[in-house]
Amino acid sequence: MSYNIMSSKAEDFINDEEILETLEYAEAHKNDKALIESILNKAAECNGLNHRDAAVLLCCDIPEMNKKIEDLAKEIKLKFYGNRIVLFAPLYLSNYCINGCTYCPYHGTNKHIPRKKLTQDEIRREVIALQDMGHKRLAIESGEDPKNNPLEYILESINTIYSIKHKNGAIRRVNVNIAATTVEEYTKLKNAGIGTYILFQETYNKKRYEQLHPTGPKSNYAYHTEAMDRAMDGGIDDVGCGVLYGLGTYKYEFVGQLMHAEHLEAAKGCGPHTISVPRLRAADGIDPNAFPDGIDDETFAKIVACIRIAVPYTGMIVSTRESQKSRERVLALGVSQISGGSRTSVGGYCEEERPEDTTQFDVSDRRTLDEVLKWLMEMNYVPSFCTACYRAGRTGDRFMSLVKSGQIANCCHPNALMTLKEYLEDYASPETKKVGDALIQKELLTIPNPLVRSRCEQYLKEEVNGKRDFRF
Ligand code: SF4
Repeated sequence: MSYNIMSSKAEDFINDEEILETLEYAEAHKNDKALIESILNKAAECNGLNHRDAAVLLCCDIPEMNKKIEDLAKEIKLKFYGNRIVLFAPLYLSNYCINGCTYCPYHGTNKHIPRKKLTQDEIRREVIALQDMGHKRLAIESGEDPKNNPLEYILESINTIYSIKHKNGAIRRVNVNIAATTVEEYTKLKNAGIGTYILFQETYNKKRYEQLHPTGPKSNYAYHTEAMDRAMDGGIDDVGCGVLYGLGTYKYEFVGQLMHAEHLEAAKGCGPHTISVPRLRAADGIDPNAFPDGIDDETFAKIVACIRIAVPYTGMIVSTRESQKSRERVLALGVSQISGGSRTSVGGYCEEERPEDTTQFDVSDRRTLDEVLKWLMEMNYVPSFCTACYRAGRTGDRFMSLVKSGQIANCCHPNALMTLKEYLEDYASPETKKVGDALIQKELLTIPNPLVRSRCEQYLKEEVNGKRDFRF
C-alpha cells in the first residue's frame, strides 16, 4: 500500500507511511524559520495548505512564529466567517448500540447505563422544547443498533422533526451523526432532506483504531474510514469529519484529518463541509485519564489554528465538551460553529433538571442558549441560526465555490442578522435582547452592498411586525 490520494481504499488515502514521513519531516523542520515563514506566506493567500506544510506549522516551537500562526488563523477566520458564529443543538435519539467502543458509555457491553430510545411523540416534545429555546438547527445522534435504531427509525425521526412548527419555531436544518452505512442508505438520508452527514473517525491510526473498537460493525477500520466516500456517492453533498482527540497521538490525527480532507476534495470534488474537534471527556464508566494521549488547552488551540489555516473554507465545530474559557479561545482562532444549551442525554430538553443517566459525555459548558448568545454578542460575535444555503441548494462544491470567491459574505451577514432578530423577538431575555438589538444596528452598517443592506433593514422591520424566515 502506498499513498494515493485518489484511491478509494482507506489505507491508500490515509497512508500510515505517508503520515509517519510527514511527521518526521515536520519534526526535522520545526525550528526552520525560513521554511515556516514561506509556508505562512503561502497560507496567507488563503488557498489552504497541504498536510505536510500544515504539519510543520503544528510542530513549530518558535514562539514568535507560533504568534504569527495564531495571527494568520485569526485573519483567515475573519476573512471567511467574519464575526458570525452558527448555533446548533444536539438531539440524542437513542443510546442502544451494539459496538464495543472502549471510550464511549454507550458501548454494547455497558450493563450499567440505562438504555433509552425516543418515541416519535417524545421527539415531538423534545423538538418543541428546542424550538422554544430558539434553536433552528439540530444534529441528531444515535448509537448503532439495526434492531432498535434501524435507518427507518432515523428517517421517520427526521420527518417528524421537520414537520413540527411550534409558535414561530421551526427546525430548518437537521444534521445527522449515525454509523457508517451503505451508498443506498445514504441516498435515503439525502432524500430525507438531511443537512450535513457527520461521522467521527475517532482515530486515523489503524492499529490504535482496532484496539479501541474490538467488537461490532464499527471495528472495521476501512469500512468506517471510507464512509464519507460512500456518503458522497449516495448524493450527500455536505459531510462533517472529526477525530476524538485523546484517543491517538494528536500530531498523527491532525495529519490524518487533513489527508482525509484532501482525498475528498481530490477524489469527490469537495472537501468536508465541517471539521469537529472534540476532546475525550469523562462519562459513565469512561475515565479520560486512562487514555494516554490527552491534550492540554494550548495544544488544542494550536490544532484549531493550524486546521483553520490549512482548510480555510471548511467550517469548524466545537461542542459543549469544551468549557466557556476554552471555547472563547478557539472561537477567535478558527471555530465557526458551536452548540449551545446542549443536553447530551437521550432527550432531556423537556426536563427542568438536566438528566445525567444517559449522557454520552460530561458537558463542560452548561449555560443556557440565551446565556451563550449574550456572551457571544458581548464579545462582538454575531450569533447565526442561518440555514439559507442548504435550503437554496447551495451545498457541496456549489457552496465551496461561493465561499472561495467570497461572494457568500453578501448572504451570510444579513442572514445572520435576520435569524438573530427572530431569536431576539421570540425567545431572548430582556438583557439579551437589549445587547442584540444594539449589535444588529451596528452590524447592519457593515453590509457592503447598499441594496442588500436596505432590504435587510426592511426585513428586520417586518420581523418586528411578526414576519419570519427571510433569507438571501
Ligand atoms: S461511539 Fe458510537 S458506535 Fe461507539 S459505542 Fe458509542 S454510540 Fe456506539
